[in-house]
Order: sequence, then C-alpha cells, then structure tokens
Amino acid sequence: MDCIFCNIVNHTEQAEVLFESDKVLAFLDINPVNFGHALVITKNHYPDFLTVPKDELDQVVNTVQAISDVIKHKLNSDGFNIVINNGTAAGQTVPHFHFHIIPRFHNDDFRFKLNLKKYSDNLMKEYADKIRAELK
Ligand code: 5GP
Ligand code: ZN
Repeated sequence: MDCIFCNIVNHTEQAEVLFESDKVLAFLDINPVNFGHALVITKNHYPDFLTVPKDELDQVVNTVQAISDVIKHKLNSDGFNIVINNGTAAGQTVPHFHFHIIPRFHNDDFRFKLNLKKYSDNLMKEYADKIRAELK
C-alpha cells in the first residue's frame, strides 16, 4: 500500500519534521490553514482514531499538547483547533491516523461551515439513550 504519511515516516518523502520519537512523528502540513499548521501521526499505520492502540494514542496526545503549547505561547496564536477527520465522509483525505493542530487568529477568515440542526420532541434523549446504552 502506498501511503504518503508512511513514506514520510520512512524518509522516502520529504517533510518539515517538528518532533520524532519511537512511536510518534510531527511535521508541518503542506497546505496550511494558517502557517504553523501541524500534523501529529503515529509512525505505525492505523487508518483512524478508533484503530490506534491506547499506549500509542497517549504518546500522540502528549505531543499534540506540547506542540499546541508552542503554537499558543511562542507563535502567539489567539487560539488553536485540534481536529481529527475520520473517514472520507468527515473529510479525511489521507487514511493514516493524524491530528491536525491549527493555529487560529481573530479575523483569520477561516470558519468550519456549520449547518446546525435542532432536536425535535424526544429525539435528544433517544440519541443520548442509544449512546449511553453502548458505553461500558
Ligand atoms: P485529512 O484531510 O486527511 O484530515 O488531512 C490530510 C492533510 O495532510 C491535509 O491537510 C494535507 O494538506 C496534508 N498533506 C497531504 N499530503 C501531504 C504531504 O505530502 N506532506 C505534508 N506535509 N502534508 C500533506
Ligand atoms: Zn500510512
């Protein structure tokens, strides 16, 4: 399988690497929403959030927090978004698990396009019941 992020891990594809450890790699997104937009990935290939083993996820999250801290306090962003797209329906284009860390600035003219719904009648409780029933 030819995976662009696996190729970055294997150094067969160039990237601007920010951090590397045994299990984790962080690098700049080639098409940033704002400059400094970073991606944090597991070195192992997992397709999405649900398939990442917990110990590797912990290490990724630690890196996400460290890079977010730099983006907020050293790049002086006004805020930041942490995003994971899971599945093509959710906008995932590279099927190798990754967090986005997106520096945000007041008036940066980037908005997630939200088309918000309203629950009718008992529907909110029905959804909550379905989810609660499946949680261990
Ligand atoms: P997704 O849409 O899957 O959540 O995000 C994939 C991200 O990977 C996109 O933001 C895209 O710009 C970035 N990307 C795709 N190919 C490359 C690449 O070859 N190098 C780097 N650094 N980023 C890439
Ligand atoms: Zn991969």
